[in-house]
Amino acid sequence: MICIFEEKGNDIQCKCCGVVLKNIKGSPKRTCKQACGEYPSIPQMVANFTSSMVNFVIDGFKTVDKEEQERRLNICRSCPFYDELQNRCKACGCSSSLSSRIASYDCPKGYWENEKGK
Ligand code: SF4
Repeated sequence: MICIFEEKGNDIQCKCCGVVLKNIKGSPKRTCKQACGEYPSIPQMVANFTSSMVNFVIDGFKTVDKEEQERRLNICRSCPFYDELQNRCKACGCSSSLSSRIASYDCPKGYWENEKGK
């Protein structure tokens, strides 16, 4: 997987791993350390899902309203980690429909926070 760059003034930054290359334009081919196009390993996804479910239970099974869920999903839909075909997040491997509904869930990349972090 290669970095997916976006311009930041005179620099470029990879949307996936966040690396900044100074005074460069365009999209040089660079091996990305956080391949946006790849899901985490199965053990890592199981760990992520388990952790999310534990937090969901501790938080009393709270969910967000439709408005907050749609706000989260709109952010996901423009995120380089979003897998439109499977409606899943490649950063954690979770279903976006599910994770956006759980009040205690945090975006693993910090693009949106849970209800406590707002
Ligand atoms: S949860 Fe975060 S990282 Fe995952 S697709 Fe949504 S905005 Fe992107």
